[in-house]
Amino acid sequence: MATPPIIAGNWKMNLLLESSTKLISDLKKGGISKSRARVIVIPPATLLSSIADQIKNTGIFLGAQNCHEELKGAFTGEVSAEMLASVGCNYVILGHSERRTLFGETNAQIKAKMSSAIKCGLTPIVCVGENLRQREAGGAMDTVGKQLEECLIDKVSKDNCIIAYEPIWAIGTGQTAEPDDIEEIHSHIRNTLKAKEPNTDGIPILYGGSVKPENASKILVLPDVGGVLVGGASLNPKDFLAIIDKTSGKSE
Ligand code: PEP
Repeated sequence: MATPPIIAGNWKMNLLLESSTKLISDLKKGGISKSRARVIVIPPATLLSSIADQIKNTGIFLGAQNCHEELKGAFTGEVSAEMLASVGCNYVILGHSERRTLFGETNAQIKAKMSSAIKCGLTPIVCVGENLRQREAGGAMDTVGKQLEECLIDKVSKDNCIIAYEPIWAIGTGQTAEPDDIEEIHSHIRNTLKAKEPNTDGIPILYGGSVKPENASKILVLPDVGGVLVGGASLNPKDFLAIIDKTSGKSE
């Protein structure tokens, strides 16, 4: 069966017990369970258990923002994929640009994390995207192609992988990529996936970067956009619900 449009909300390092409970309660009151989209909330690690309890029987899925490549051991401060699965996560973001640029995460590490996540039953949401310098130099396609080559395990398929194209210059800046640019890169991602492994049809490719209720429709309508990864706007229940609502016209 085709995957429904995916709307994933990356809360980043925001919210506490009380404020996150209020957000989930507002999303439930706003009718999130009735949506035909696959909604994924991605809180910080401290809130995963609590949110897992709060979203039981709502149809909302749970994701984490990162994992370590090893399953256990002397890695102070880290959280493994097995630990995430044990508290109810279904998804994990890997290689978010903030992890790459602020914490020096490499493509090789992301690939190791991907293997570990899949082994533990999580679906990785692997982020790729160029920075402004690379875009202005005409290197967006090459950057994204290299990231895919080096981050993805060999046997990727729609059952074990979601890709998120997130141009770094669009994250948290209020600037969004133009529909033509999104289409061009998504089609490049699709072709790169196919060249790597024939069985990649149906891998959802999300767009991320300042998605808001005002621009979500024109992004979600694009043929090879399988959904959106939303940062800032996912912290506001009204905005997040409005973005989810824009999927009502999108075919699976
Ligand atoms: C993100 O964090 O993945 C993101 C896309 O953030 P924002 O929507 O705030 O640009």
